[in-house]
Amino acid sequence: MIQFDIITLFPEIFASPLRESLLNKAREKGLLKIRLFNLRDWATDKHKTADDAPFSGSDGMVLKPGILEKAITEIRKDGEPAPVILLSPQGRRFDQEWAQGLARLNRIILVCGRYAGMDQRVIDRMVDLELSIGDYVLSGGEIPALVVIEALSRLIPGALGNLDSPKNDSFPARLESDQYTRPRLFQEREPPEVLLSGDHKKIEAWRKKESLRKTLLRRPDLLLRFPLTEDEAAIISRIKKELMEN
Ligand code: SAM
Repeated sequence: MIQFDIITLFPEIFASPLRESLLNKAREKGLLKIRLFNLRDWATDKHKTADDAPFSGSDGMVLKPGILEKAITEIRKDGEPAPVILLSPQGRRFDQEWAQGLARLNRIILVCGRYAGMDQRVIDRMVDLELSIGDYVLSGGEIPALVVIEALSRLIPGALGNLDSPKNDSFPARLESDQYTRPRLFQEREPPEVLLSGDHKKIEAWRKKESLRKTLLRRPDLLLRFPLTEDEAAIISRIKKELMEN
């Protein structure tokens, strides 16, 4: 079970994704617990102010440090130890390896930024890790938080149904081979013959080779990051030979 405590100015953004499909099922099975906290609840003035103009005079507003520090301190105390993760385009790039590492934790506090970001002093004092979901800038940390939650939830044992498994997923290391389903003939094209053979050993060998071929052609960087086994190296040489011949 993983518990996510989410600090956001827009808790409603989470409503629909948490009500559907995998995330809903994982919550119903008790494998995933989500607590949403509205940052404004820690504001003390009558307008519930959470942001202020930057000292630099640049555009946009900045989330105030005091309100964030109070929220994080209070939420952190309420449960077992948990890292505080700020979603930020300036953070470490989130990927499947990060997902696998973080999925071992029981509790994670996610802080969603907004506007121009947040006061650096509270980041330095309270945040354990900054995570980015990619080199682009979104308007808030809510969608990045959902990306992290969904990627981790797929890895909680029992969260995916029996019919689905992360075992052959394209990340972290090898892109998954092509998939086919009924009808057998679609727009004058049949699936590769081996998939119709019922021979599980041959199908497994085909999947492995196609997975390596796809990875070699589309993401050769993965073959360097996750070194080839002897068996894979032999398959890759055959693929390269075939590619040269054609
Ligand atoms: N001015 C900031 C900068 O350039 O680094 C960007 C602020 S962005 C408009 C507002 C918030 O959206 C950020 O504080 C962060 O929480 C979230 N955010 C935007 N892009 C993100 C990304 N690629 N990954 C994670 N969080 C992101």
